[in-house]
Amino acid sequence: MRKFLLFGIGLPLAIATLLVWWFKIDGGLPVAVLEGEKATVGRSAGWVVNVTAPGQSGLKEVVVRLISGDRIFELERRDFEAGAWLGGGVESVRIPIEVDLGELEVPQGDATLEVLAETYGWRFLDRQIPTAGRFVQTIDRSPPQAQVVSDQHNVRLGGSALAVFRIGLDAVAMEVEVGDYRFPVVRGYFADPALALSVFAVPEDLRPDVQPYLSVSDEVGNSIRVPIITWIRGREFRDRTLQLSDGFLQRKIPQLYANQGLAVPDDLLAGYLRINRETRKRSEAQLRELTRNSAPEPLWDGAFRRMARSQTMSEFGDRRSYSYDGEIVDRQTHLGVDLASLKRAEVGAAQGGRVVFADDLGIYGSTVVIDHGLGVFTLYGHLSSILVAVGDVVEAGQVVGNTGQSGLAGGDHLHYSTLVRGVHVDPVEWWDERWLRDHVQSKLELFPRAAPAEEAKADGEGSS
Ligand SMILES: [Zn+2]
Repeated sequence: MRKFLLFGIGLPLAIATLLVWWFKIDGGLPVAVLEGEKATVGRSAGWVVNVTAPGQSGLKEVVVRLISGDRIFELERRDFEAGAWLGGGVESVRIPIEVDLGELEVPQGDATLEVLAETYGWRFLDRQIPTAGRFVQTIDRSPPQAQVVSDQHNVRLGGSALAVFRIGLDAVAMEVEVGDYRFPVVRGYFADPALALSVFAVPEDLRPDVQPYLSVSDEVGNSIRVPIITWIRGREFRDRTLQLSDGFLQRKIPQLYANQGLAVPDDLLAGYLRINRETRKRSEAQLRELTRNSAPEPLWDGAFRRMARSQTMSEFGDRRSYSYDGEIVDRQTHLGVDLASLKRAEVGAAQGGRVVFADDLGIYGSTVVIDHGLGVFTLYGHLSSILVAVGDVVEAGQVVGNTGQSGLAGGDHLHYSTLVRGVHVDPVEWWDERWLRDHVQSKLELFPRAAPAEEAKADGEGSS
C-alpha cells in the first residue's frame, strides 16, 4: 500500500507538478525592448517593439499603447495562438508600428510608449495584463516654419526664377519642387539666418500649369509643402529640321568613336543615332553631377555677356528633327544657343565665376563649365581650344577658349548653355539686364545681406 502511494500516486503527482511548473508557471513576465535609440518622434512615428516571453508557455496577447497625460492611444493589439499544452507557443515577436500621430491627435510633448504582454502561463494573483516595458518618448509633430516671402514670380517656360523663404532653423532638408525636378534651397546669403533662397527653373519639358512648391522637413521627418505662387507663361518652341549628310557622318562619326576609344561602326547613321541618343543622355547626366555643388553666393555682377559679334544660329528649346535621305530618323531638343562668329573666335566667360569643368564632354566636345554661384552655371561647347583649368576663378569676359567644331558640331560655332542646378534654361534671360534686375537682383535685395563674403568664405563651401 505504501509502495502504491509512493509510486502509484505520489510519483505521477510529483511529475505532473513539475511539468505544470515548467510549462505553465515558471519564467516570470514577458519583457519588451525598443529597437534603436529614438527618443523623439515626428508626426509619422515608427517604432519596432520586440517582446520576449520567458519560460515555455508562449505569448498570448501584446498591446502597445501611447500614454500622454490622462489619454491613452492604443496603437497595436496582437493575439497569439496557444501552443500545445506542453509548450510550443510564440516565444518572441517583433512588432513594427507605423502611426500618424497627427491623425490620432496625440498631444505634443512627452508621452510614454507602453507595452503590455500576457502569456499562456498561469498566474494566480494578478488578473491584469502585465507591463513588459515603458519608454518615454518626446512627440514633436509640428513641421518647421516655412513661408514664401518674395512675390512676383513670373517665369516663362524654360526660364529661371528666384524665390526667398523664411524657414524654421529646425529644418534639415529644404528644396523647391517643380514637377519631378528638385532645386536646393540655400541659407546664409541673408543676415537673418531664418531667410533662405532658391534659384529654380521651370524646365522647358514641363507644362505651364505646373505648380512649384517649397518642401521642408525636420530631423524627425515632419514635413510641409508650401506652394510658391508662380505665373508661368507657356511658349511654343521652334521646329527645326536638320539634314544629315553622308559627308557629315563620314567626317564626324569615326572621329567621335575614336575619341571615346570605341570601334568605329560600319553603319555610320546607326553610329550617329547612338551618339545623339545615348552619349547625349550621358553628357546630361554628367552635367547634372558636376553642377551639383555651387558657391552659396552670386559670383556674377550684372548681366551675363553674349559672345561678341556673333550670330544666333539655333535657339534654346528648338525642337529638332534629324532628316537623313528624306526620312526623319531622330528628334531632340536643343538646350542652348548656338552662336557663330569667325572661326576659332575667342570665347569669354559670360560672368565671373569658378571653372568646374574643362575637358571633353560627349556631344559637346571640348567644353568649359563655369559656376556663377547659387546654382547658376554656363557651358561653352564645341571648343577648339581650352585656356582655363578646373578651379580657376575667372572674371567676366576673360577668354576661356576658342570656338570650334568638336563634339557633335557640323561647323565652327559656340554652343552656349545656361544651367540652373544642371537644368538647361533659356540664356536670353540672363543676358538681359532688365530681366536680371527684376527677377533676380530685386529679390536678393529684399533683406540685408550677411557679413562680407570674405570671412564667410574662409571655411564655407565657396572656398573649396
Ligand atoms: Zn548647340
